[in-house]
Amino acid sequence: MKKITIAIDGFSSCGKSTMAKDLAKSINYIYIDSGAMYRAVTLYAIRQGLLTDKNEINEQALLQRMPQIKVNFRLDPTTGLPQTYLNGENVERDIRGMEVSSKVSLIAALDFVRAALVEMQQAMGKEKGIVMDGRDIGTVVFPDAELKIFVTARPEVRAKRRYDELQAKGDKTPYEEILKNVQERDYIDQNRTVSPLRKATDALLLDNSEMTIAEQKAWLKEQFERIANE
Ligand code: C5P
Repeated sequence: MKKITIAIDGFSSCGKSTMAKDLAKSINYIYIDSGAMYRAVTLYAIRQGLLTDKNEINEQALLQRMPQIKVNFRLDPTTGLPQTYLNGENVERDIRGMEVSSKVSLIAALDFVRAALVEMQQAMGKEKGIVMDGRDIGTVVFPDAELKIFVTARPEVRAKRRYDELQAKGDKTPYEEILKNVQERDYIDQNRTVSPLRKATDALLLDNSEMTIAEQKAWLKEQFERIANE
C-alpha cells in the first residue's frame, strides 16, 4: 500500500475534521487541522489588540509579527486528540469560541497570513502520510494530493451540528447566531480574492446532509483504500 496525501476541503462545520481525524488515526497518518492554524493567528491578533471589536485589523503590525507566531499540534495524552498550541500555549479551547469564529474569516482573507500558513502546511506534508483538512488544501496547499475530497452539507444542518457541539461544552450561543455565522463564513470564504473556497476539479464531492458520522467515516476509508491500493 503506498503512502499518499489526503486533502479534505469544504464548508465550515460540515464534519470534515471528525472524519479526517478518524481516518488519520485508523491508518496511522498525521492529521492537521489547517483551520485551527488560522484560528490561532486570529486569537493572537485579538490578544495583541491588532483586531478590534469593530473588526478593524492592523495589517502592518500583524505582517511584522507573523514570524513570531508559532502554531503547532500535540496529542493530548489522555484523549489522544490533537491540541493546538500558539507559541507554546495550549489554545484549543480559546480558538473554538464564538469570538474567534466570528473573526477568523477576516484574518484568513489576508494574503500574507495565507502565504505563511501554506508554507508551514506544505512543510508538514513533505513526507506524505498526512490527512489535512481546510478550504484550499486540494487547490493550493497540495494540488498533487492523490486523494481529494470536497465536503458539503446544508447550512441549517451544519449550524445544528455546531450548536449541539457548543451546547455540550456549556456554550449557550443561540442557534440563529450560529446559523448566521456559518452563512457569513461561507460567503467570505467563497468570495475572498486569495484562494477562495472551491472544489478542485479532481476532488470527489461528498454531501453529508443526510449521512451519519459512521457512514461518512466508512465512505472515506473506502476511498482511501481504493487509491492507496492502486
Ligand atoms: O475549519 P474551520 O472552520 O475551523 O476554519 C476556520 C476558518 O479558517 C474558515 O472559516 C476559513 O475562513 C479559514 N480557513 C481557510 N483556509 C483553510 C482553513 C481554514 O481560509 N485551509
